[in-house]
Amino acid sequence: MSKETLSITYEAGHEVKLEELPEREVQLLRRVIEICREAKEAGNYPFGCLLADKDGNILMEQGNCENEHKGDCTGHAETELMRRASQKYTKEEMWDLTMYNCGEPCAMCSGAIYWGNLGRLVYIGRESTLKEYTGDDIRNPTLALPCRAVFACGQKPEMEIIGPVPELEDELMELHKGFWHPSEN
Ligand SMILES: [Zn+2]
Repeated sequence: MSKETLSITYEAGHEVKLEELPEREVQLLRRVIEICREAKEAGNYPFGCLLADKDGNILMEQGNCENEHKGDCTGHAETELMRRASQKYTKEEMWDLTMYNCGEPCAMCSGAIYWGNLGRLVYIGRESTLKEYTGDDIRNPTLALPCRAVFACGQKPEMEIIGPVPELEDELMELHKGFWHPSEN
């Protein structure tokens, strides 16, 4: 069976330097790394995110909860956070909030972010870097589909997306070292 070629036009993000970010945003990204650590220590996968308002106040935090939810494959941190946030905030309010995330959201989470009407996203890690660690591990065979490509297919005003932030990647990836078991190709 042949695959049709799908082409989507989107603007790729540029690598952001820490000095380009306000100090509060760097603090929030470091808190995200801690949330990932807490998720891992609780027996889940080392992913996490938080939701903040325009002043940098943390409104919600969420780690990966797949194992905590008995293998729920939708238990990615971002999807779970959007599920919770969309029950608390209106779509208008969501547009003014920011998600700080450990990595580029997958297609499922990008979908939840889109449907929940989040207006702004800041993330640390590149999907390509994560893939070096997870490989094809069945627990997390990462999808190489940029979130910007997903959002580019939507009908809403452009979201503000900031990332990746490579200077924080090493710290984040420490949590993934030896955690995944890709097959030898
Ligand atoms: Zn996801």
